[in-house]
Amino acid sequence: MSHKRAFIFLGPPGAGKGTQAKRVAQRSGMAHLSTGDMLREAVSRGTELGKLAKPIMERGELVPDDLVMKMIEERLARPDSAAGFIFDGFPRTLPQAERLDGILESAGFGKPVVVDLSVSHDKLLRRLTGRWTCSVGGEIYNVYDAPPKTPGICDNDGGKLVQRADDRAEVVKERLAAYERATKPLTDYYQRQGVLHTVDAAANVDEVSRALSEIVERAERRDGHL
Ligand code: ADP
Ligand code: AMP
Repeated sequence: MSHKRAFIFLGPPGAGKGTQAKRVAQRSGMAHLSTGDMLREAVSRGTELGKLAKPIMERGELVPDDLVMKMIEERLARPDSAAGFIFDGFPRTLPQAERLDGILESAGFGKPVVVDLSVSHDKLLRRLTGRWTCSVGGEIYNVYDAPPKTPGICDNDGGKLVQRADDRAEVVKERLAAYERATKPLTDYYQRQGVLHTVDAAANVDEVSRALSEIVERAERRDGHL
């Protein structure tokens, strides 16, 4: 039987979830759903949610579960889920994971395929402090490992590259602590459900991408999507 498919990209801030989710979404037609991007958009638009989330994100802490779940439920009600979803940066706490299980089940999704992008903390610091993002299309660069052709300018659309306020060293420390405290336990949660895959995300972007493609294609074959 063919189910709608949900992929979950787990892993610490800076592991490469956004970079890889964009690639998989482009290849597969699945919708890329990053709660970080959605929250940053709410902040820049100055919505009620954005006003609540802004100071929390600036401190590197997690936005409360109820706010995140409401945002996700509204997003999932939009009709572009036919090819499935790639969740990036969500769920981030055990209550979010449990509530997502319920949503997926009642919306007719199969069990999610969860991929943990695993990478050591010293590499994460370099990735986060070197990250620059296109202010127009959201393309992700790294001044050390994946620089744009012209400094400060996006290769794709010529947009201005910007650095995230929460990629400063002091905030990064708190974000990594929040990951260890609240999000890392999700690997055990999904391991127990038998849906966890681990990918060595210390490898270069193309190698990580190949490993992820294999997992995605295997899941699609199993579900009769290929
Ligand atoms: P996340 O979404 O997990 O926070 P990103 O995809 O934004 O992570 O990547 C964080 C930074 O690391 C970016 O600057 C990106 O260009 C860089 N990056 C991503 N994957 C790799 C990789 N495999 N090797 C080196 N740098 C990477
Ligand atoms: P990210 O872009 O995934 O690094 O997320 C940036 C920030 O947004 C985090 O440091 C949190 O403050 C907030 N955030 C993103 N996703 C979630 C989530 N699922 N739960 C709680 N907070 C989140």
